[in-house]
Amino acid sequence: MRASSIALSVVCGPIVCFYVAFAACFCPARLHRHTESEEKKRFERRQKMAPKPLPIRPLERSLTLPMPSPVIDEKMAVLSPESRRGKSLHQTQSRLMRLPLELREMIWKAVVGDSTMHMILKENKLGHLRCKAPSAIECPLGFNGRTFSRECCWGNVDSANIWAPTSGIKEPTDGDIVPLLRSCRQIYSEAVNFLYTTNTFSFSDLDCLRYFSMTLLPHRFSLVQSLDLEWCMAWPIYDPVAQQLLLNNPALYPPNDEATWEETWRIIASMSNLKFIRASLLYFDGFRDPTCEEKMLAPLRKVTAPSKFEVHVSWHGEEIRGAPFQLIRPVERGEDSSDDEDWDV
Ligand SMILES: [Zn+2]
Repeated sequence: MRASSIALSVVCGPIVCFYVAFAACFCPARLHRHTESEEKKRFERRQKMAPKPLPIRPLERSLTLPMPSPVIDEKMAVLSPESRRGKSLHQTQSRLMRLPLELREMIWKAVVGDSTMHMILKENKLGHLRCKAPSAIECPLGFNGRTFSRECCWGNVDSANIWAPTSGIKEPTDGDIVPLLRSCRQIYSEAVNFLYTTNTFSFSDLDCLRYFSMTLLPHRFSLVQSLDLEWCMAWPIYDPVAQQLLLNNPALYPPNDEATWEETWRIIASMSNLKFIRASLLYFDGFRDPTCEEKMLAPLRKVTAPSKFEVHVSWHGEEIRGAPFQLIRPVERGEDSSDDEDWDV
């Protein structure tokens, strides 16, 4: 029995090997179709998990002030809790609220601002995790096989880049800011702008930035001043020759396609209060020729608001002149032999 099995393996082994080699070399479509279906599945799952944009109709009531006059306040104080629902009261009995506005603002800024918020995609909504590093620059970059990740801060994601905590505990993804903002309408009104003006918003997914712009009120979104974007570019973006050779159609699914890339930078270009952008881009071997790279960089040239705009890329190439950003390429081997770090940060 054993001898017959060995004989069968000896006869069939080379045939199987030959078939696999033949399929890989002469029928690449088989391989591509498999990859394509994975990409398609990932894309469909992301579509299903997309957060809903804000409704076009105005909110039933504003979350921010104005507060009523003190006279109305006195009248409302005698009303039942049900009658007072949705109405604002002056917080004259609160010792915190009796502090001067300047001091209160320092407290709000310390609680909701001055941090880096890593934005994550969750099921039908966005979340944000406060960076654990002392500053965005010190937050360690990593590559998890699909995209950049900051393992110490971002946690785990599934194959569709949807946040998937493995700890089993329901981890909060509100950056510890929601309880304060929800505690009082006056606090919300005084503190909410610090959330957008003093934090760095950090993204590792282009769709996440797009959803962020769609799920915020436009006047709040435009307050953002500091942006950090990491993105792993998918081959063969901006390479029409290579795309024609591929049998997949489309060659790239969103968010890896050119349309999503260009839309992302259109959104960033519309952010009039931006003061700082750091974009970190990874593309394994770089671009086939400088024309492809120039096409990829063209949408970034329309972003002119920030006073500091850095683009770190993982590949070598020519110097870029006349751009609103500073393109930082990896240090050439031998240029700085004392440092093994590939990124010139
Ligand atoms: Zn971090």
